[in-house]
Amino acid sequence: MSEQAHDALEVSNGDIVFDCPHCGKSLAIDPRGAGLIIACPDCSQQVQVPGLPLEERAGEESAEGTPEGAPSAAHAAAGDPEDMAAALEASHTKIARLVESLEEVRERRRYLEQLRTANIARFKQIGKELETIQHAMDRIVAHLQDAAAENGVEG
Ligand SMILES: [Zn+2]
Repeated sequence: MSEQAHDALEVSNGDIVFDCPHCGKSLAIDPRGAGLIIACPDCSQQVQVPGLPLEERAGEESAEGTPEGAPSAAHAAAGDPEDMAAALEASHTKIARLVESLEEVRERRRYLEQLRTANIARFKQIGKELETIQHAMDRIVAHLQDAAAENGVEG
């Protein structure tokens, strides 16, 4: 009975109308919101806005393949400037986030690099000390051998 009963919903021309998959609430979204994830105003679950209606798409993608010199790029660039601004803004945000995480990774690598360098320096120092100790031991052993020889021969 109530399947067609969309409750008083303000739908402007061209809006994407769909039902929330969680609560079934009818939602109308500006077509620029196509593909975005929004919070349902009713149940506040995350909902992905579907793309444009098929009929509108079919008209645009009738050409198969792009013939040489096709103004496809120009066509895309000539799209809704607000669309472009939104897309640009979105990619700016994405880039900013990537740069941020890249910076974090770099910071961590720098830290590890420092640690490694410090460890190498420490190892080198330990190596030198071991060498010194080895020399000292060699000398002591030599002295002991001398002493033992002297004691042995002349004892
Ligand atoms: Zn909902």
